[in-house]
Amino acid sequence: MRRNIVAGNWKMNKLFPEADDLINNIAEQLRNFDTSDVDVIICPPFPYLELVSDVSEDGDFFTGAQNVSKFENGAYTGEVSATMLKSLGVDYCIVGHSERRKYFKETNFDIAQKIDRLLNEDITPIMCVGETLEQRENEKHFEVIRTQMEEGIFHLKADDMQRCIIAYEPVWAIGTGQTATKEQAQEIHAFIRQLICDKYNDDVAQEVSILYGGSCNAKNAAELFAMPDVDGGLIGGASLKSKDFIEIACSFQ
Ligand code: PEP
Repeated sequence: MRRNIVAGNWKMNKLFPEADDLINNIAEQLRNFDTSDVDVIICPPFPYLELVSDVSEDGDFFTGAQNVSKFENGAYTGEVSATMLKSLGVDYCIVGHSERRKYFKETNFDIAQKIDRLLNEDITPIMCVGETLEQRENEKHFEVIRTQMEEGIFHLKADDMQRCIIAYEPVWAIGTGQTATKEQAQEIHAFIRQLICDKYNDDVAQEVSILYGGSCNAKNAAELFAMPDVDGGLIGGASLKSKDFIEIACSFQ
């Protein structure tokens, strides 16, 4: 059965000593909570992966990366491969975040290759999908998400699809303070699960955790996570403060 998941995406924030403090605070606070019904994942910038991975060895959380190269290895200056991530103890990796689609021109086909690289190394992809404000206003959101799923991940066989996590992140909600309503989130999450069911079958669809991301915080997490198809959250800004992040991780009823 699918798991509840809360993943923190630190993006390009924090200097090393601050990251050190934050991860140790998170680890400390997690020790006081029963985390048996939620998997907590921390996705720091690349230079801090080893730090987070080391702390995670004694902690109740997993280490995730924010990106991976679509190439295997070799002369690709500045890239980081899935095998390198694996060698650092990384278990999860975000792919297709809207910031990477926008600023680095990542396409659904790039994302598909990255997912293959990760699965080859037994790293769980957290694949982001979501529409822009303009696409939603033009009622194109269902179509956009269908295409992202079809081109980005539906090349996988059923067994591999079951190993993936999807994050629905409406672009208009990321970092804006404008959270999707619980009804808007549920509508899209149910749609994504139905797409998976139609492509594979209901057993596969029920196995895949679908996270919500976009201005999710300690105040609104519980009502979002209470929706039947919302299995947790991908948290940006609110993951940079240990107290807020822990409150979010404890928001499952
Ligand atoms: C994100 O970037 O994945 C995200 C959800 O950001 P925020 O929570 O800050 O909106």
